[in-house]
Amino acid sequence: MVNCGACGKFLAMNGAATCATCGVIFHRACLALPDKAKLNKDWECPNCKKATRRGGMREFRSEMELLRASFASVCVRMDGIEQRLQALEQRSPDLSDDRVALLEQTISGLKLELNDRDQEALLTDLEIGQMPEDKAENAFSLSLCVGDLGSAYH
Ligand SMILES: [Zn+2]
Ligand SMILES: [Zn+2]
Repeated sequence: MVNCGACGKFLAMNGAATCATCGVIFHRACLALPDKAKLNKDWECPNCKKATRRGGMREFRSEMELLRASFASVCVRMDGIEQRLQALEQRSPDLSDDRVALLEQTISGLKLELNDRDQEALLTDLEIGQMPEDKAENAFSLSLCVGDLGSAYH
């Protein structure tokens, strides 16, 4: 005997809705599902759907944290390279071409990397509207940081 996951009453399997995630079976009427409509094989009950959404948000936040950490490290690296470059220029005005080429290569590599992340951040920005304000602010200061770098190296 099977009981409905919503009302707890006995349930005929015929026409019932089975959750693909938790396996609980429901009366369609209890979930306001249309009687005839075919449900997807991966149909999820409202409880599981809620859990998935919450998990997705958690994942999104940890991705933001990662993104923020990598932005910070790129900014620091760029700063370091700039300082080294200036020091080199002051110390030896006649840098060998090889070293200049190497530095330029490194910088353009970092620029590309920044560009990629900038785009990611733009995509992420679209979702930031739903985030609490402190998170949104962090993302904003990130883009400021990247913006500064962009203008400094163009
Ligand atoms: Zn029911
Ligand atoms: Zn479920």
